[in-house]
Amino acid sequence: MDLFEKLLANQGPLGKHSEVSEGYFMFPKLEGEISARMQFMGKEVLTWSLNNYLGLANQPEVRKADADAAAEWGLAYPMGARMMSGNTVYHEQLEQELADFVDKESGLLLNYGYQGVLSIIDALVDRKDVIVYDAESHASIIDGVRLHMGKRFVFPHNDIENLEKQLARATKLTNETGGGILVITEGVFGMSGNLGKLREIADLKEKYEFRIFVDDAHGFGTMGATGAGAGEELDCQDEIDVYFSTFAKSMAAIGAFVAGSKEIVHFLKYNLRSQIFAKSLPMPFVIGALKRLEMLRDDPSHKEKLWTIVTALQGGLQEKGFNIGTTQSPVTPVVLNGTVGEAAALSQDLRENFSIFCSAVIYPVVPKGTIILRLIPTAMHSLADVDETISAFEAIMGKLKSGEYRNAEVAVAFGE
Ligand code: PMP
Repeated sequence: MDLFEKLLANQGPLGKHSEVSEGYFMFPKLEGEISARMQFMGKEVLTWSLNNYLGLANQPEVRKADADAAAEWGLAYPMGARMMSGNTVYHEQLEQELADFVDKESGLLLNYGYQGVLSIIDALVDRKDVIVYDAESHASIIDGVRLHMGKRFVFPHNDIENLEKQLARATKLTNETGGGILVITEGVFGMSGNLGKLREIADLKEKYEFRIFVDDAHGFGTMGATGAGAGEELDCQDEIDVYFSTFAKSMAAIGAFVAGSKEIVHFLKYNLRSQIFAKSLPMPFVIGALKRLEMLRDDPSHKEKLWTIVTALQGGLQEKGFNIGTTQSPVTPVVLNGTVGEAAALSQDLRENFSIFCSAVIYPVVPKGTIILRLIPTAMHSLADVDETISAFEAIMGKLKSGEYRNAEVAVAFGE
């Protein structure tokens, strides 16, 4: 059989909706300055889908730092991988400042979060070792686990009792192989907004021998007294052996970092294939990240503004009877019941008639019959934006319940 013929016959769970979705639900174009209100198909919409938590993306100081660095250095410098010819004092300065901020000895820059997570997992374990990971982990963790040549045990999301069972199994196995155990979880789970049970996981170190790797993509900058993340929030940062965050969210940029003890970061520096075999981050990204880190660290008002909006949005939705699940972070899921078609009709109604742009999470990411509207509050939103959104949600909830979306043109086109 021709390989392409086989592939094109089955476009996958997302691709199968492309005909009715592309350009509107999938690959939409949000235009204009990154802010709470942007342009979608020529119309202003109130956006709730950008992870610009602290509103740093378009701060004039940030834009100036980015532009000045691009003018001074261009996008080429430094050329080559860090190890060979692509190192600078600025890369090292950023690593140390990030490590200091998250209270770790050392840090290492990564070009992308997704690749970084894969490569960290790949570097930390070999076939003798066992990975134990949370079932709701981000795709980058799942794909990193797929690279692992040894055993992996999964525990149901945040189920500590089950985790302990998996640790007992893993211990038995590693006693035979002579390997070690790596537990992987997230600081903040990006769909539910739940915090990983880091404290409870860390407490198990008294009974079992293992190391913890935490992906804190959504926690960095948003959680903890200083914004140092979920470990700080849960008072167990010291117990996180390998700490990761991307620059794609609170830092509003691109790139990522990993931090830990001097020794483990040194090991990663010499064994992380995503960095050893790839070009170093260009200077504007490094200088831009230094600026963002300075603002995130030295000016608590960004995080305070974020949390004012989070509290108003989550409290307001709950007051009106919406189910926002079990979130403990800014991530705000609004859980509704309906088909994929109804989700499409409802999202279209929100965009066209209420000028609200938010992402809908549908089957197969969530079970059939569940729709999650995922809202990301940011420091750029206002309390008026929150009120407007809650009123719109009340209206669409009424329509959903009365079955109004069931026969909408787009719902029928999704064919359910
Ligand atoms: N981990 C988590 C939990 C994420 O949400 C993401 C997506 N930003 C990544 C890793 C990947 O990061 P990046 O966008 O920098 O590749």
